[in-house]
Amino acid sequence: MSDSRTLFAKAQEFIPGGVNSPVRACLSVGCDPLFIAKAQGARMWTVDGQEFIDYVMSWGPMLLGHSHPEVLRAVHHAVDQGTSFGTPCPAEVELAEMLVAALPGLDMIRMVNSGTEATMSALRLARGFTGRNKVIKFHGCYHGHADAFMASAGSGVATLSIPGTPGVPQSVVDDTLLAPYNDLDAVEELFATHGQDIAAVIVEPIAGNMGVVLPQPGFLPTLRVLTQRHGALLIFDEVITGFRLAYGGAQNIFGIIPDLTCLGKIIGGGFPVGAYGGRREIMSRIAPCGDIYQAGTLSGNPVAMAAGVATLRALQQCDYMNLTIKTKMLASELKDILEERGVQVQLNCMASMFTLFFGPDPVTDFTTASKTDGKAYASFFRQMREAGIALAPSAFECAFTSFAHTEEDFEKTLDAARTVQF
Ligand SMILES: *Cc1c(COP(=O)(O)O)cnc(C)c1O
Repeated sequence: MSDSRTLFAKAQEFIPGGVNSPVRACLSVGCDPLFIAKAQGARMWTVDGQEFIDYVMSWGPMLLGHSHPEVLRAVHHAVDQGTSFGTPCPAEVELAEMLVAALPGLDMIRMVNSGTEATMSALRLARGFTGRNKVIKFHGCYHGHADAFMASAGSGVATLSIPGTPGVPQSVVDDTLLAPYNDLDAVEELFATHGQDIAAVIVEPIAGNMGVVLPQPGFLPTLRVLTQRHGALLIFDEVITGFRLAYGGAQNIFGIIPDLTCLGKIIGGGFPVGAYGGRREIMSRIAPCGDIYQAGTLSGNPVAMAAGVATLRALQQCDYMNLTIKTKMLASELKDILEERGVQVQLNCMASMFTLFFGPDPVTDFTTASKTDGKAYASFFRQMREAGIALAPSAFECAFTSFAHTEEDFEKTLDAARTVQF
């Protein structure tokens, strides 16, 4: 029988924790994972036949909603022509051209298979280009699971309260310098001490992996100035923010042009895709035109590229402002409902991503995010799930809305929240 309980028991026998990515296990919220049979629009159905309104949206990629008809059509068409060629195909060029046109920081782009590969390759490129080893990252930011980014990583590492660095050589740990998000003094100090050795600063221009944390005014512009002054590269990890805030990235919205940009999630339309790109002078150092190696058997996969192209085409027709307004209304009403139930909530919201932090103080970095009440969130999560609403199974993640969420979905979500008790 393929009910969730049986499947999870079997999964735990064959797969560590029963999951292929840690946060899915729902450990921090005290649940078992949902096994999904089908998803459409903003809804998902478990193998047990339960229906959910989804605010995880595959952790961000499904901005158009699940099973978008134009994306499915493009994928079906691509599959019929063959699933992998190992030599260039037209859709790779099309997607690259669309990405370069959409983001001001991109002159050239290289496709890979995940966000992790994108950031890891961007860092190698930054190191090769500058001839330096160290990288500054921010506490609570998540840049995938490559060695250099595991220190004080957000997402699952934060959720599970584990150090993240077992298995990472000490020499690699030593080359990763940490600063609190939004703390420019800390960054200046690191540059004052290690300036000659710093290859890059990598940042989520809007943090999404400690819950949503917005950059304070001046944070990103000053990172731009500091990196330029010290000969380091500025890497925007736009794996979440790319095409979520607008057709383009956070760089379009804030008007800050990074040297390198990492993309993933939305640009693959639900397939395993990542990409990194930047200034021509830097990107030209990548093999085969340059000396810095990076490769991938399935990179630029024709099916994944078709899904990406169809997704971006559909997004060109979408009303981002409308979704931003609707999301803000939903999130504010959720906050009000929770506060009527006697809990204090901080709402951090940007476009179609938001986090409700349970606590009395504003959340501006990982320290303040960590002080919020994870137990209260877990209780909220479980009661919402009971009522058919699937939120992220961690207090350190964001809720994602999509262009497929309807007024009815939002009303049902608010009704569910009204049944919650603390
Ligand atoms: C999800 C994410 C990654 C890693 O992408 P994967 O495809 O999971 O490897 C990197 N950076 C950010 C900001 C992310 O949210």
